[in-house]
Amino acid sequence: LVVLSNVNKHFGALHVLQDIDLTIARGEVVVVIGPSGSGKSTLCRTINRLETIDSGAISIDGKPLPHEGKELARLRADVGMVFQSFNLFAHKTVLENVTLGQIKVRKADKKAAETKARALLDRVGVGAQADKYPAQLSGGQQQRVAIARALAMDPKVMLFDEPTSALDPEMINEVLEVMQQLARDGMTMVVVTHEMGFARSAANRVVFMADGKIVEEASPEEFFSNPRSDRAKDFLSKIL
Ligand code: ATP
Ligand code: MG
Repeated sequence: LVVLSNVNKHFGALHVLQDIDLTIARGEVVVVIGPSGSGKSTLCRTINRLETIDSGAISIDGKPLPHEGKELARLRADVGMVFQSFNLFAHKTVLENVTLGQIKVRKADKKAAETKARALLDRVGVGAQADKYPAQLSGGQQQRVAIARALAMDPKVMLFDEPTSALDPEMINEVLEVMQQLARDGMTMVVVTHEMGFARSAANRVVFMADGKIVEEASPEEFFSNPRSDRAKDFLSKIL
């Protein structure tokens, strides 16, 4: 579904993505882990073209990423993204946050968008908050609204960049549970996270990055019990 071939990207002299080859099948859950600065966020951001690439190719559903205009807006809708900071529209209600893209990009009518938004908000457990503003919600609730907002666009793939790392500990699980459910429902997902419990239970594959390269790719069982590279062994010894 998502194919990156020989992708390279620089920030000035920094070669932040080096010859990245990665194929994500429909329904697959790929967890990306690695040290700070290894290029995990940049990798995610290239997949919905928040960052351009210097060479190589990225395609979704067999089509190369569009460069601009309406096509790009549609791509961003097809590739849902959830960030560490919740990035909700502060001056819009929870309900409006989830209807806006449906109306603007997917051309849904308001009534249908609201019905769908309420169903999605119920699904992630924040249906009762629909008429509040983001600042009136806890971090865990805001992040679940952000997930509902992305899902409202019927994305082909969902990208999560450390979705729980800005949350207080007691709110982490409520967000991870929504993500677990999404994985069980067959959503194609790329998840950058330090939550190794999630990686073990939800991932089909773990991708370990260091210094802009994919150093290892394996099933979670294999990766956690038997990491092959010194970089991965070193990383795991620090976090587990
Ligand atoms: P973390 O675990 O800390 O989130 P990461 O693996 O997500 O790290 P990236 O955010 O992808 O790493 O950053 C990779 C490298 O690229 C870092 O050295 C970072 O400083 C650099 N970098 C990221 N964004 C930019 C930018 N817009 N301009 C210049 N350098 C950048
Ligand atoms: Mg990052």
